[in-house]
Amino acid sequence: MERDRKRRRYIFYGIVQGVGFRPYLFRMASKHGLGGFVRNTPEGVVLEVEGSRESLAGFFEDVMSNLPPAADVTHVDAQELKSVGEGSFRIIDSDQEGEKEVIISPDIAICDECLRELEDPHDRRYAYPFINCTNCGPRLTIIRDVPYDRPNTSMSCFPLCRDCLAEYMDPANRRFHAEPNACAVCGPRLWLADGEGREMVNFQGDPIGGAVEKLREGYCVAIKGLGGFHLAVDATSEEAVQRLRFRKNREEKPFAIMVRDLEMAMEVARLTDADKEALLSPRRPIVLCGKKSVSVVAPSVAPGVPDLGIMLPYTPLHHLLLRRIGIPLVMTSGNRVDEPICVGNREAITRLRNIADYFLFHNRDIIVRCDDSVEAYAGSSRILIRRSRGWAPKPIVLQRSLPRVLALGGHLKSTLCILKGNKAYISPHIGDLETPEARDFFVENIRLMERIAGCFPEYVVCDLHPGYWTTRLSAELPCKEVFPVQHHHAHIVSAMAENGIFDTVLGLAMDGTGYGADGTVWGGEFLVADCVGYKRIGHISSFSLPGAERAVREPWRCALGVLHRSFEHGWQNVVKRLNLVDSEVNLNVFARMMEGGFNTPETTSLGRLFDAVAAIAGIRRTISFEGQAAMELQNLVRAGVAKRYPYRIVDPGDRKILDVYPLVQALTEDIVMGEDPSIVVSAFHFTLVEAFVSMVKVLRDVTGISRVVLSGGCFQNKVLLEGTKEALERFYFEVYTNREVPVNDGGISFGQAVVGASTLKKNGQYS
Ligand code: ZN
Ligand code: ZN
Ligand code: FE
Repeated sequence: MERDRKRRRYIFYGIVQGVGFRPYLFRMASKHGLGGFVRNTPEGVVLEVEGSRESLAGFFEDVMSNLPPAADVTHVDAQELKSVGEGSFRIIDSDQEGEKEVIISPDIAICDECLRELEDPHDRRYAYPFINCTNCGPRLTIIRDVPYDRPNTSMSCFPLCRDCLAEYMDPANRRFHAEPNACAVCGPRLWLADGEGREMVNFQGDPIGGAVEKLREGYCVAIKGLGGFHLAVDATSEEAVQRLRFRKNREEKPFAIMVRDLEMAMEVARLTDADKEALLSPRRPIVLCGKKSVSVVAPSVAPGVPDLGIMLPYTPLHHLLLRRIGIPLVMTSGNRVDEPICVGNREAITRLRNIADYFLFHNRDIIVRCDDSVEAYAGSSRILIRRSRGWAPKPIVLQRSLPRVLALGGHLKSTLCILKGNKAYISPHIGDLETPEARDFFVENIRLMERIAGCFPEYVVCDLHPGYWTTRLSAELPCKEVFPVQHHHAHIVSAMAENGIFDTVLGLAMDGTGYGADGTVWGGEFLVADCVGYKRIGHISSFSLPGAERAVREPWRCALGVLHRSFEHGWQNVVKRLNLVDSEVNLNVFARMMEGGFNTPETTSLGRLFDAVAAIAGIRRTISFEGQAAMELQNLVRAGVAKRYPYRIVDPGDRKILDVYPLVQALTEDIVMGEDPSIVVSAFHFTLVEAFVSMVKVLRDVTGISRVVLSGGCFQNKVLLEGTKEALERFYFEVYTNREVPVNDGGISFGQAVVGASTLKKNGQYS
């Protein structure tokens, strides 16, 4: 009998702490009648079990096929040991020794079991808005320090009551070591306050009921959530939405909505299977779903764009609120333009006073700001637009170990990234670095990510752009060396590294703007790239941007630059026919600007070409938020349009140029002749896809490379991404895109980190 006994040691790596992994193993071991122990260590969870050979095999299979929802096991080491005759199973307390390398879990949406208890009138947590367990609840947003234990979280000021403590101590319980565990007796509480932040005593017994009443009356309620405040209004009321736009000084940029359940989401949008899966995932992101032309949602929620940003309730508070109100709510980040989302109660009163009429407060402090994540799906490909709550700080696991670096990202949609070993820790979304508040938040995030990654890298990576704030910051940080990395190289490497590719690829970086190695503005680039270097072997034809930075907000300037090149002599007449400039005098000014090159940089940006086409097609001459023109163009695309425009591939010797002037000429002539803009815009999209494929084929012949990587902000366009990917695959190219890293500038820090670290490794400067 004794001779049949086996003992095995397993080490589980990945997200295995703070997600109920140890009680899970305890329950599994008990179920299979095994002895042994489980312990958290800096590397991961160590498990030793012993029993008969059969029960050990059955146990492991059972463990791996029923993992807790929030766990993400990246790999498991197994080792045979000698039996020591241990008959019972125990959980050993956290090992505080060694380097801190414990992975902090992202925040997780309420689980099904907690939801059942929340709705059960006989449960002691019935309708308690802060119910959670080891499978769900706040994580990153409540941590002050690692390891993730209650005293290191904002729950430290809520001593557990006797019942909660019993759950917390019982290894068989779902709440064993659930750090945010709480109930109405001992935990955080909710209250409704007026516009000045004074608690409204008449709603003391039912603050959610009070919020429902105020929202129904058309008021704006600031709701404290998981990673910050939301500003909520009735999404079916045009008046309420308009008022919020006015107060938030946000003209047209789409608002996200929260709906009660999947059924309600299907009433307002056309959901694909991928959309549904993402909406229901424990990350609970905002998903950009195809908008229905007619629905209860007020038109000004997402005017002129093809998609509606939808999310499902992810905290118990959201569930209680949405169930009672029964209508979709606008839920937009509680901030002022370009500032980070509010987290503190007093901060919210000061900063949101003139926007919100009421506040739904609670007293569980938010330590880490974390916006809602935004995802979209082109077919089954994920387009990650904002990587924040539900994702951060889950590391990207690389297929090789690299030296430690800190990468500062770009300037817009910024994130930062710390690479350590084979893990890259990307910060939550920080945003555009235009305001002092956003910059403070950035620096705060460096400290946070250093704690989470458990290291202080001595090498820093930044963008090549000398004028970026992050580039200037890199010079002030104490470090051994700073590596500048070209923007589009970083985009391509971001998609390579997360797909485990480290050798040479053909990269299509289709983007807004990035500083080029030659000092011009790049953004429609074909690169041969690996993790340390790149060669620019192609790009779209360049044009000038009269007014430089101003052209980003004023697409008509982009149109002038493109028409000037495309039509050579007759361009001024075309500009007049299209009414792009208000006077002859102005037109002459611009003509001289472009001829003299004064304040008129050259660009190969595809994003600016989209802007130009939007202005030429009469869709949009100025924009009020980044990407607006491209989104409105995409909104006009009709599948099945057969028309295509001409383009050329030109070879000046050292590279291939995708000449888009013939395309612009033909498209402009169509518009002048009164062609339906929807046909013109569809043909523009489909021609671009064909042109990309032609370029890639030519470049394959030159380089012999058939592995293609797509990245850059323009691939947020579902038509462009899906079309290009499918067409390339039809010609037997291997195509890779970003999946867990943003395709836009939110992914730059990760790409930079990999380039910087790979360069260090190659140079042998290993730290
Ligand atoms: Zn739960
Ligand atoms: Zn309690
Ligand atoms: Fe970019």
